[in-house]
Amino acid sequence: MSPPARPTPAPMAGAALVLPAEPPPLAQVEQLVHASARIHGHLCPGQVIGVRMSILGLGLLGYGCPLGMPEIKNIIGFVEIERCLADAVAVASGLRFGRGSLRLINQGLLAATFLDALSGRAVRLVSREEARQAALELHPNESNPHTAQVLAYRVMPDAELFDAQWVSVALPPDQMPGVRPPKVPCANCGVLIRSGQVHRVEGRELCAPCAGRAYFLPVAPPTKE
Ligand SMILES: [Zn+2]
Ligand SMILES: [Zn+2]
Repeated sequence: MSPPARPTPAPMAGAALVLPAEPPPLAQVEQLVHASARIHGHLCPGQVIGVRMSILGLGLLGYGCPLGMPEIKNIIGFVEIERCLADAVAVASGLRFGRGSLRLINQGLLAATFLDALSGRAVRLVSREEARQAALELHPNESNPHTAQVLAYRVMPDAELFDAQWVSVALPPDQMPGVRPPKVPCANCGVLIRSGQVHRVEGRELCAPCAGRAYFLPVAPPTKE
């Protein structure tokens, strides 16, 4: 696989961004929400937000949703929460954690960024808190707020659902789409480190646990009682 063309400079971070006046076609939204709810396990407001985010973000970059081949190889998505929204963005956009085309930057925010590695352009979308109340007002007779939000988020204008801005995302060259970083043996334990996740500590190339970055602690084996 050849490396992507050198990205052109992204628009200035925070540059003004005009959102579409009309929401996307309802049939497109419903089809994607249905598909993501099936995989996610339930229909929730996060599914609709993730679907609308994907349609809008990819649309602003000039792409359809879901992404087709071969353009899906140009795009990297970043989701900022590991909950409902992440599943919806994966299903709707076609981007995948297992392919490196979707990344989790868990900041606990209902937000996502779509980066076009060919152009270097990236757009970040943040779910607006005001949309929650607006959804309830659109469905005043709906006793379940989640149902009201699911219904309303399908059709509300993008500008009511999202704050959007052009951003730039600094990706190391070995994290670009289509690039496979070499496997590096850990200088301490010898395990092969993949995906460019080497930690350089005092001139040594280490795996995360050997570099003191483990997410776990070794414990004694469970004893039989
Ligand atoms: Zn959910
Ligand atoms: Zn190691």
